[in-house]
Amino acid sequence: CFSAKRPTLLRFTHHFKFHSTRAMASHIVGLPRIGPKRELKFALESFWDGKSSAEELQNAAAGLRSCIWKQLADAGIKYIPSNTFSYYDQMLDTTAMLGAVPPRYGWKSSEVGLETYFSMARGNAHVPAMEMTKWFDTNYHYIVPELGPHIRFSYASHKAVDEFKEAKALGLDTVPVLIGPVSYLLLSKPARGTEQSFPPLSLLRYILPVYKEVVAELKAAGATWIQFDEPTLVWDLDANQLQAFARAYSELESSLSGLNVLIETYFADVTAEAYKTLTSLKGVTGYGFDLVRGEKTLDLIKDGFPSGKHLFAGVVDGRNIWANDLASSLCTLQALEGIVGKDKIVVSTSCSLLHTAVDIVNETELDKEVKSWLAFAAQKVVEVNALAKALSGHKDEAFFSTNAAAQASRKSSPKVTNEAVQKAAAALKGSDLRRATNVAARLDAQQKKLNLPILPTTTIGSFPQTIDVRRVRREFKDKKISEENYVNAMKEEINKVVKLQEELDIDVLVHGEPERNDMVEYFGEQLSGFAFTSNGWVQSYGSRCVKPPIIYGDVSRPKPMTVFWSSLAQGMTKRPIKGMLTGPVTILNWSFVRNDQPRFKTCYQIALAIKDEVEDLEKAGITVIQIDEPALREGLPLRKAEQALYLGWAVHSFRITNCGVQDTTQIHTHMCYSNFNDIIHSIIDMDADVITIENSKSDEKLLSALPEGLKFGSGIGPGVYDVHSPRIPSDTELCVKIKNIIKVLENNMVWVNPDCGLKTRKYSEVQPALSNMVAAAKYNRRML
Ligand code: GLN
Ligand code: ZN
Repeated sequence: CFSAKRPTLLRFTHHFKFHSTRAMASHIVGLPRIGPKRELKFALESFWDGKSSAEELQNAAAGLRSCIWKQLADAGIKYIPSNTFSYYDQMLDTTAMLGAVPPRYGWKSSEVGLETYFSMARGNAHVPAMEMTKWFDTNYHYIVPELGPHIRFSYASHKAVDEFKEAKALGLDTVPVLIGPVSYLLLSKPARGTEQSFPPLSLLRYILPVYKEVVAELKAAGATWIQFDEPTLVWDLDANQLQAFARAYSELESSLSGLNVLIETYFADVTAEAYKTLTSLKGVTGYGFDLVRGEKTLDLIKDGFPSGKHLFAGVVDGRNIWANDLASSLCTLQALEGIVGKDKIVVSTSCSLLHTAVDIVNETELDKEVKSWLAFAAQKVVEVNALAKALSGHKDEAFFSTNAAAQASRKSSPKVTNEAVQKAAAALKGSDLRRATNVAARLDAQQKKLNLPILPTTTIGSFPQTIDVRRVRREFKDKKISEENYVNAMKEEINKVVKLQEELDIDVLVHGEPERNDMVEYFGEQLSGFAFTSNGWVQSYGSRCVKPPIIYGDVSRPKPMTVFWSSLAQGMTKRPIKGMLTGPVTILNWSFVRNDQPRFKTCYQIALAIKDEVEDLEKAGITVIQIDEPALREGLPLRKAEQALYLGWAVHSFRITNCGVQDTTQIHTHMCYSNFNDIIHSIIDMDADVITIENSKSDEKLLSALPEGLKFGSGIGPGVYDVHSPRIPSDTELCVKIKNIIKVLENNMVWVNPDCGLKTRKYSEVQPALSNMVAAAKYNRRML
């Protein structure tokens, strides 16, 4: 079905056999759009490169949509969503629908075409892209709407209606999905320069007329249901924000009459107040809840559910790759059915399946037993329907018993359990491991040994991954070259990187990470308890996807992972080489994590494995060790009440990795990708000796946000330039940057370094940029 060459054929000749009588009460919140083999990615990139036409792109997209719809229809899903496809992002689609194009894109027509759409997403030769940020606590990123107080909204993209009609032409009645008006505004930001003056939520009454037009058009096209995604209902909202929901839906009520309306929430529990607001909304037919992450929501439902309304029960996890425990879900559903009534319960996913991998059929390399424990999006659709059938008394016994057998095998498999690891990790609960000596005394001891100049210079770890480096790694993986040849090639590369840093006169060197494909995968491949997929891609943003490792079992480290490379590099220079590790929290947050034990337990296990590595590096004579935690902030729970607990065990996991080293061993950490202002206390509590942190893009926000009197206590290296841009910063510019930093921070604590690793840059950019950076550091040293 997914052959990229046949989309037009599919689109125009294939009519679905859709037996509405057979369809049980089943629903899918949303779907992956990238395709099982990233077909959309390749179609988009080819179009962006000018290698294919808009029509070719549109055909490929239509092919993907019809395949998914067919899959859902074949599985017997009753409520099939439409408008969950997107060329880039569903929030950006909504921006287009509302005609909320920021003025700098010079949009003048009445419809937002592909050119304007992609300019907003990716920028063009004249204007930069709109800002992108994380979609709740997922690894998906959305384009943040920028709304000014004088914006004029207009109905400027008919995509929702077009896709509804497209499905209809294929013989399917779908549920068109829109981002709800309140969530749209709560996820927006005020346009530049208007930050102080107004909250986007105040625009509610101006966007509702556009929603009304869309609804009217959907009705005219024959829609009988409509789904509004209002995921912000899982936040801790204030009374004013909650009131906006009541206002919005009562204003829409008359337009919506005659339609069944589903309000969908996901990613966490809803608060009691939000539940109350939601269940008293006017003109609503059904409510969707995430019952995987929202265990407390279950209690709210048990305490009272409005009579006559539908409950869309999200029991199949859209955030993970684990097969559902069907027996247990069926129990939950039966209990819920007792509360809400027999024909009022609809089996659903916890959230859109956008956040899981696409289809397990393409995984031929996976261990058979591990594979039997997994379900990707295509398999989850089948699970949802099996549950719906079972609930209505048509249980597929064979399917349920295969599932039960897989659940049992997962529970008892020796692949999962490692007694020693379980014990060691269990012993950590309730403990508070940290280094014995305080950071000030440690820094003194380290300085005696390292004898670094003031404003020491360093880099974050990776050096450019040239085509040659990637080729050698691939050839070694494919067994086309011998281990000896591989090691020699890497040795040569490391030597080049070390010599370059010596020439640049950098103080603390790195080996450059040429042997690493990815900072998590590299470690996962060497740890036990991890599995890797060939096509388990999940959309991160636009055409970009990530392929998270799967942590299925207890984690341990069979043998040292990085000692060989770090020692090799240390043998090439008298200057200190920084050992380079990925921290436990980042490994956890960038993987699909097992759901049969709490996340903190898995994190502690990884921490113990990294601790072994840290201690082996120390024994091998590496005196500076960096443990990267760029993803620490990403795991922060959405609900405020749960955040302290997470930060507690996450920060503890980091400390566990290095609590056993000598005072003279200097532990660095590195963080990026987020604003850290709200977790500064936790960062300090990590008790690292030196923290290098992304800073250049956030206009020194981090530094200005430092509460009065609060000191890091450790060395701190706010990045002085952005590594994600090819631009080479001048020495004067960097001089000023450093000067500004030492105005705020004690100069004897400041380190000078780029924002992040240099892996995606070219040597022709890295060499002059670092040279300017060192010159700027030296200039400031002389001025002190
Ligand atoms: N040490 C890693 C590198 O330099 C850190 C990457 C990151 O922070 N994302 O590539
Ligand atoms: Zn980084």
